[in-house]
Amino acid sequence: MAGSVRLGQALGVGLALCVALTAAARAEPAAKDLFSAERAPSAAAPQSIGFYSKGCLAGGMEMPKDGPTWQVMKPSRDRAYAHPAMIALLQRLSVDARREANWRGLLFGDMAQPRGGPMKDGHASHQIGLDADIYLTEMPNRRLSDDERDNMPLPSVIDKRTRHIDERRWRPEMMKLIRTAAREPEVERIFVHPGIKEKLCKTAGRDRAWLNKVRPMYGHDYHFHVRMVCQPGSPNCEPQESTGKGDGCDKLDWWFDVALQPPPPNAKPYKKPPPIFLSALPRACAAVLKQPDAATTRVAAPARAAAPPPPAPAMADGFDAGAPMALAPEPAPAARPAMAAPVPPAAVPDDGRLPMPRFRPGG
Ligand SMILES: [Zn+2]
Repeated sequence: MAGSVRLGQALGVGLALCVALTAAARAEPAAKDLFSAERAPSAAAPQSIGFYSKGCLAGGMEMPKDGPTWQVMKPSRDRAYAHPAMIALLQRLSVDARREANWRGLLFGDMAQPRGGPMKDGHASHQIGLDADIYLTEMPNRRLSDDERDNMPLPSVIDKRTRHIDERRWRPEMMKLIRTAAREPEVERIFVHPGIKEKLCKTAGRDRAWLNKVRPMYGHDYHFHVRMVCQPGSPNCEPQESTGKGDGCDKLDWWFDVALQPPPPNAKPYKKPPPIFLSALPRACAAVLKQPDAATTRVAAPARAAAPPPPAPAMADGFDAGAPMALAPEPAPAARPAMAAPVPPAAVPDDGRLPMPRFRPGG
């Protein structure tokens, strides 16, 4: 008898515990609320923790708002933080793009929040400081105002009707730009709209090895997404599975025939996944939230030689009413710019929303 009483008590206690735990889970704030509230990187050695879509960033660094070969867009979003190696890579790419693609400069979109982690809106990834969006719009020949950076149109290169490339907007320089990024050994992969991948496949010519890293993805029709490999000093950074072999050009049919088609009438509506809680992120991410603010780590990675800051000579201030800068870029100077010491701090990115599929056959 005593045994069954004890069993009953144990069950009762267990039940109460369950109820308490469920309530606690319900009270736990979503990780995106915690991480989006952080205004400064943590004072710690740089470290990417977890996976690109489930993790956080310690010791992040902010991309200076302006450089000789780049400008950071969407300042109101405050998402121009990344692992210092990523900051250096992006700055290097901006110089290489000028040389290789005759591209005046890069317009950067979202990188990560000051301490990485899930975001309130937009991306599923960009959580560990190794992802960045780069617009397919060339940097204009002048410094943009904050308002322009937040509101300037950034046109798609995809024809919305056909879902293939919009030849009026596509420029051969864009292929060179993406190729330059893909050839960088530290770039793990690049995401582009399937219509862009198709265009690259058709125009790459004989040297196609770099196409392996360029992967088709929803969205990404007005920017491309650069993902960097896990960096030394980040033992908890989870690498992504290999991109396998081949240029991937034979795998685009599914995208056009199925994935990009409107969902069938009887398809279940796409349901947003539930928010991630802090307890679901790697443990070290709770510690990252507790670390003190980094002092003034707003100086960017010294990408090669430091030289004159950016007050780009030819940049007039003020917006000349709606110049279609995206479509009528002037030829960029061929000269290789001196790598500048980054200038001011600043921030943020594009609206790189990742439109998720509503209908995904085969999961
Ligand atoms: Zn992105």
